[in-house]
Amino acid sequence: MSDIAHNLAQIQSRISAAARRCERDSKDITLLAVSKTKPASAIEKAVAAGQRQFGENYVQEGVEKIRYFSEAGISGLTWHFIGPLQSNKSRLVAEHFDWCHTVDRLKIAMRLNEQRPITMPPLNVLIQVNISDETSKSGIAPDEIEALAANIAELPHLVLRGLMAIPAPACDYQSQFAVASEMAVAFTRLKQRFSTVDTLSLGMTDDMDAAIAAGSTMVRIGTAIFGARDYPPHQIL
Ligand SMILES: *Cc1c(COP(=O)(O)O)cnc(C)c1O
Repeated sequence: MSDIAHNLAQIQSRISAAARRCERDSKDITLLAVSKTKPASAIEKAVAAGQRQFGENYVQEGVEKIRYFSEAGISGLTWHFIGPLQSNKSRLVAEHFDWCHTVDRLKIAMRLNEQRPITMPPLNVLIQVNISDETSKSGIAPDEIEALAANIAELPHLVLRGLMAIPAPACDYQSQFAVASEMAVAFTRLKQRFSTVDTLSLGMTDDMDAAIAAGSTMVRIGTAIFGARDYPPHQIL
């Protein structure tokens, strides 16, 4: 078994244990493997171990990997863009990715909608919420979610799937759980209003258990699967 296969198995059992503790079904929690800065060979090992959903932060690097796997004839992978999105990179996201987790303004949603090729299924989008990290410029305030969601719901080449957040790092479980619960409240409210909403993208290597206890449906795990990251990224091949 490769280290990556071993790590994936460990994360899956950590997800199951966290789900069991709060009486949730672990099938309702999707594991997104965050492969940013990691070479295609690392992703291949994860694919061999059964992983299908991958998250990338840098547009160009993500597009190269998507092309690599498509040219290699490996289908059935789902690619999530989870990094900060600048307007001038939106076309690459619209033309290559399956999901974008970091929509935080109408302008970027409209660009993605216009740029999504009609030959592809609608792009799945999450609204990024700035839940606790006042120093971060990414994400909208919780009280702006509804208005942006209503606008996105009108765009035919996007599907509003839910919310995403990157809370400020907190090392104790109680503070992680408190912030994650605020997101869960906003998510439940949105789900009641929009039938396409089913995803709360919340939880990374260090706060995954609290996120699951609060109601996360998608955890984004990098380090615990692929090991510490090297910056700048390797060549992908
Ligand atoms: C890098 C990253 C992750 C993964 O973080 P780890 O701590 O390595 O698990 C998750 N979400 C986002 C948005 C990231 O940028």
